[in-house]
Amino acid sequence: MADSGTNSSVSMTDVLEALKGIQENQAKLASEVESVSLRLDTLAPPIQVPSLDNGKLSALSAGASASPIRTTLAADEPDSGDTSPTTKKDAAQAQRSGFTSRIILTTYPKQIGINPLPLQWGAPDALTRGPVVVSRSSSTIRRRNGKYGYAKYCSRNLPDFTNTEPAANIGPFPQWGDEKKIVAMDPWGHLAPWLFADTIEKENVDIRPTIAITKAHMKLPELEESVRSGRLVPDGKVCLNAQGELAVTKFAVEPVWYLPGVAERFGIDEGVLRRSLFEHTGGGLTVYCFGDPAKMSDEKCRLALRIHDECNGSDVFGSDICTCRPYLIFGIEEAVKEAQNGGSGVVIYFRKEGRALGEVTKYLVYNARKRGEDRASDYFKRTENVAGVKDMRFQALMPDILHWLGIKKIDRMLSMSNMKYDAIVGQGIPIHERVELPEELIPADSRVEIDAKITAGYFTNGNRMTAEELKAVQGRMWDDIDH
Ligand SMILES: [Zn+2]
Repeated sequence: MADSGTNSSVSMTDVLEALKGIQENQAKLASEVESVSLRLDTLAPPIQVPSLDNGKLSALSAGASASPIRTTLAADEPDSGDTSPTTKKDAAQAQRSGFTSRIILTTYPKQIGINPLPLQWGAPDALTRGPVVVSRSSSTIRRRNGKYGYAKYCSRNLPDFTNTEPAANIGPFPQWGDEKKIVAMDPWGHLAPWLFADTIEKENVDIRPTIAITKAHMKLPELEESVRSGRLVPDGKVCLNAQGELAVTKFAVEPVWYLPGVAERFGIDEGVLRRSLFEHTGGGLTVYCFGDPAKMSDEKCRLALRIHDECNGSDVFGSDICTCRPYLIFGIEEAVKEAQNGGSGVVIYFRKEGRALGEVTKYLVYNARKRGEDRASDYFKRTENVAGVKDMRFQALMPDILHWLGIKKIDRMLSMSNMKYDAIVGQGIPIHERVELPEELIPADSRVEIDAKITAGYFTNGNRMTAEELKAVQGRMWDDIDH
C-alpha cells in the first residue's frame, strides 16, 4: 500500500519544481523583452532620405524618398562596450542626426540594471584581465563587457572624400528604386557623400559611403600558369596581359539594412528580426568585374558569374580540405574568358567564413572529422553536432548586389550551390547554365565535402551518389600527413 505521506511530499516537490520552472521562464522572458527594447531604443530611428538635386537620380529614387527608410548599419564588427566620452558623444551625435553609428554598443547610454564583469584590457595575466563577455543570451546580457568594438572610420571629424569617387559608373538602375529588390545594401552607397554634399555641409551631418569602386591589377600564380599552358589566351586590352596579370574593376560593399524589407524577405516579424540580426549577419562583399563594367547590365552581353563565400584557409592559405580556392580560381578563369569573348565576367566574394559559423567552429569540425572516420555520409552531421546547425549562411539577401549591378540574367553560373541558385532565381533573375567545378580541379581530400554537398542537392551533371556510396568516400586521416 502506498504511503500517503511520501505521496504528498512527492507532489509538493513536483509543484515546487513547476513553480521554479515558471519563475525561470519569466525571468528569461523579462530579459528577452528588455534586450529587444534596448535594441529598439538604440538602433534605427526612422529617418527621411534627404532629397536629391540631381534630376536623373531623384527621379529614380522618388519612390524611395517618399517613404521613411528605417535603415541601420549592420554590425560586422564585434559589439563594443566602449563608453568612453568620445564614443558617447559620437553615439549622441548619431542619434541627434537620425543616423545610427557604426559602433554597436554592448552597453548603452541610459542603460540601467547592468553589472558588467570586470575587464582589464592589457593586464599581464588572464585572471587579472578577466573574460570578454559579449553574448546577448538572456543569462549574459547584463554582464557583457565587450570593449573591442571599433568603427571602420576612425576619424572623429567629417572625412575628406576628395578624389575618392567611384572608378566606374554603375547605374542608376530601376531596381535601385524597388524597395523589395534591394534590402541589404544602400544602392546609393557609392555616391552618398556627393549626393548629400549639401546636407553634410549645411547641417554638419556625417554621411559616408558604404560602397567603393576602384580599379586594380591582380597576379595569381594559377592564372599565370593558365597563360603559360595555353588554357587562357592574353588579350592585352580587356583584362589579361601576356604575363598572366589581370586588370579588374572592384566593388566593395558594406551591408545596410532596410529592416521591413529584410523581414519580408525572410517572412518574419520585424521585431524578431531586430532581435537576431546583429548576431547572425556576416560582413560585406567585394565584386571583381572583368571586362567593361557597363556590360554587366547589358542584356545583349553574356555574363559569367561566381558567387563565392569566404574560406580563408583555402582561399588564402591553400588548404586542400575543401574546393574553395580551386572553385574561386576556376571562377576567375571562366570570368576572364567571358570578358575576352566580349561579355562580362564577375566574381562576388562574400565574407561568410565557414558557412558564416566562423573559423573556430570550422576547425572544431575538422578535428571531429579527422579524429573520426571523415566519411562524406557524416559530413553535415559533424557540423550540426558542433554548431547546432549545418549552415548559418542565408542566401536570401545575396541577390541584392545583382539587382544593384543591374544584372537581369546569368548565362553561366559558376557555382553548384542549390541555395544560391534558388535565391537568385527566386529574385526573378534567370540562370541559363550552371557550371560545376571540373573533376581535375578537385583536391583529393576535398572529395568528402563535394560529394556530401552533391548528394545533399548541389548541382551536378554527373553522378549523384546514394547514401550508401557516400559512406565509402573518406578523407585523409591525420596519421596520413607528415607533420
Ligand atoms: Zn573552404
